[in-house]
Amino acid sequence: MRIYDTTKKLYRQFNPSHTVKIYVCGITPYASAHMGHIFTFMTYDLLQRRLEDGGHEVQMVRNITDVDDPLYVKAAELNTDYISLAKTEVASFHKVLHLLNFRPTYAEPRASQYITEMADSVKILLDKGDAYYVNQDVYFDTSKYPNYGKFSGYSPLLLNNLLCERGGDPFLETKRQPLDFLLWKNIADPEDAAQWQTVLGTGRPGWHIECSVMSEIVLGDSFDIHGGGTDLIFPHHESEIAQNVALHGSPLADHWMHVAPMIMAGEKMSKSLGNMVFAMDLLKVYEPAVIRLALMHYHHHIGGEWKDDFLNDARQLLARVRASGKQCDDLAATKLLAEVREALDDDINTLEVINVLQAFVGHASRDTAARDQEHPLVKQTLNLLGLV
Ligand SMILES: [Zn+2]
Repeated sequence: MRIYDTTKKLYRQFNPSHTVKIYVCGITPYASAHMGHIFTFMTYDLLQRRLEDGGHEVQMVRNITDVDDPLYVKAAELNTDYISLAKTEVASFHKVLHLLNFRPTYAEPRASQYITEMADSVKILLDKGDAYYVNQDVYFDTSKYPNYGKFSGYSPLLLNNLLCERGGDPFLETKRQPLDFLLWKNIADPEDAAQWQTVLGTGRPGWHIECSVMSEIVLGDSFDIHGGGTDLIFPHHESEIAQNVALHGSPLADHWMHVAPMIMAGEKMSKSLGNMVFAMDLLKVYEPAVIRLALMHYHHHIGGEWKDDFLNDARQLLARVRASGKQCDDLAATKLLAEVREALDDDINTLEVINVLQAFVGHASRDTAARDQEHPLVKQTLNLLGLV
């Protein structure tokens, strides 16, 4: 198998040992899952399925970011408490993933479960001189990590712009460098519901340290793949790497793999822009396998504009694959499974999977009398893709 590695900016062979450890940044539970989320998580689900198909044990970890400012803002808007909002949204997210036939995760750590460990890590960074106080908040000193910015490879201007766009504060004058990022936010307001008593006093962690700590606690200080959307490359993963190197001497993950966004009306599908298609709405109309197959019309490196047409294309293609699966001979079924495996081994190339399925229905032998069920190898192929 080969996977594109964001660190090296090239395809790398991926030859894991029996147990494969993967950490994927999960949702902040303040709104329903849209198709951009599903596209991201389905890419890793296909990776998990293919690895399991190859005999590996996959420890898939997908966290819940239930300590994050957008959650508190949304809860205040809805006049509810953030814990209830998170609970409702997590339940709805689980329901969608279950309906869409996602493989179970190995663990689903929630940020709120590890506040003590996060504060302890920030304390270590302070003690080592890699972090400093701004008033009573704590920031990471990026000058202590000269490679900061190299992971994304973005220009200094783009780094600044993205930091503004993605919740950073490059213009805070009391910081040592514009790109220094928040590790710990002191909370003085007793009315603020999201605060914890720790070695750093009362407050809550910054977003980036949450994933550094959760991934290390659940998977250890060396794991195979760290994933998420491409919008997490900077500042989230860039900052995680800086912290991990400061704390452990390594980035923790060997491979960093990212999924491009779904586009809607020319812009990234996002909660903040409101241009979303929700998985739950589609599930009222379409069979789950059709929704999965529609998403396979996009390459995860490229993403692309959401097209309802792909749902109809997927519905037709799936019906034809099932029909051909009942008539094909052993040769065609064997070829189908081998070629789908090959496509997934090529950096989860789902566009090629679609080509393979189309070729199968175009060429599958019709001279075999129809069976009641699909050929076992066709069924195995559909199962590998999560379409059973
Ligand atoms: Zn994360």
